[in-house]
Amino acid sequence: GYNRVLEIHKDHLSPVVTAYFQKPLLLHQGHMEWLFDAEGNRYLDFFSGIVTVSVGHCHPKVNAVAQKQLGRLWHTSTVFFHPPMHEYAEKLAALLPEPLKVIFLVNSGSEANELAMLMARAHSNNIDIISFRGAYHGGSPYTLGLTNVGTYKMELPGGTGCQPTMCPDVFRGPWGGSHCRDSPVQTIRKCSCAPDCCQAKDQYIEQFKDTLSTSVAKSIAGFFAEPIQGVNGVVQYPKGFLKEAFELVRARGGVCIADEVQTGFGRLGSHFWGFQTHDVLPDIVTMAKGIGNGFPMAAVVTTPEIAKSLAKRLQYFNTFGGNPMACAIGSAVLEVIKEENLQENSQEVGTYMLLKFAKLRDEFEIVGDVRGKGLMIGIEMVQDKMSRRPLPREEVNQIHEDCKHMGLLVGRGGIFSQTFRIAPSMCITKPEVDFATEVFRSALTQHME
Ligand code: PMP
Repeated sequence: GYNRVLEIHKDHLSPVVTAYFQKPLLLHQGHMEWLFDAEGNRYLDFFSGIVTVSVGHCHPKVNAVAQKQLGRLWHTSTVFFHPPMHEYAEKLAALLPEPLKVIFLVNSGSEANELAMLMARAHSNNIDIISFRGAYHGGSPYTLGLTNVGTYKMELPGGTGCQPTMCPDVFRGPWGGSHCRDSPVQTIRKCSCAPDCCQAKDQYIEQFKDTLSTSVAKSIAGFFAEPIQGVNGVVQYPKGFLKEAFELVRARGGVCIADEVQTGFGRLGSHFWGFQTHDVLPDIVTMAKGIGNGFPMAAVVTTPEIAKSLAKRLQYFNTFGGNPMACAIGSAVLEVIKEENLQENSQEVGTYMLLKFAKLRDEFEIVGDVRGKGLMIGIEMVQDKMSRRPLPREEVNQIHEDCKHMGLLVGRGGIFSQTFRIAPSMCITKPEVDFATEVFRSALTQHME
């Protein structure tokens, strides 16, 4: 029963991992965009296992492919080849522009970013790496240097050679830049401090240059950026910022890494990869989460030149990377995205949802900002629109809990956990969005009473 599960959890599972909700959900089953608990209650899953179940829970085609592979071959390690790996590599490479054609298959986003750090250092012969404040790039010791979001950050003795830089956050940053963020919905910043957006971008670039000129980062190995920050609460940068930042990094010998762990595989709708929405070409792209629809799998894609630099320095081995089950599932996921037009659906239903949520922002003073692209949407809760002070955590918890009671699961993000994150499976439909908007409206109305 439920209580027994809680007991086992308390006795045997690490307290460092925390669950959502005072009474954690015990989920038994999933079907496409829906989840079911032990009592048979159903929930519309608007967080898809932290932006991971890209094509739907237990998608029939993915399940059928997994079952077939299960009866054929589970594991070989990277020292023996098998067809699913090569089929997958060819399919994935076809989705990336030249010269991003060399693929390393690994098992998690953290592992992918660790490998990208090694590549950047091997290729540049430098140590220092820059990432944004508010970035989340992993929880492993090496990637903790890159991660700069609240309680997920831990300083390690000896340091990691990583340097944070100001995040050009269009809503929370000092200079805004709201009119040129790449979103169908623009920020309402009720304050007088924001200059026009191009000026704002230039101010953020000046800050970036300052970081580059500090002694630790003078000659840098690389720069990591999520095309849209996920864990930090769907944070978007002013248009053109990343392009200029990439040029500055390259001028100092560094390589540019796009962390597509949340933004890749069509979720942003207008483009298959988040970096394409910034009109940049990274040197290394890392991906995980949605790549396997929930099956552990991740990848790093880079240029032949950078791949060679690493091979000169290191013989790399990864027991589970490129596992036959993972690769067969990965291929099925790519096929489903294409066959079911899920990228187009992300664009259409995502924009529809964003506009509906933007109406809630206009109706409720505590909804400070609604933003995002495709099916990666953030709803930032504030005390009032003028001060932009975050709504206290307990109040956000209550709204979160109320949505759950009404059958809607959403994610959380931001330093104060003040932003609701919405990232459903890409098969979501407009009537489901209507349901979610009404649930959200009820929860907000209840809160205001
Ligand atoms: N990069 C980003 C952008 C992420 O959101 C995450 C996970 N939240 C990671 C990397 C790390 O991935 P994993 O948890 O699979 O190690």
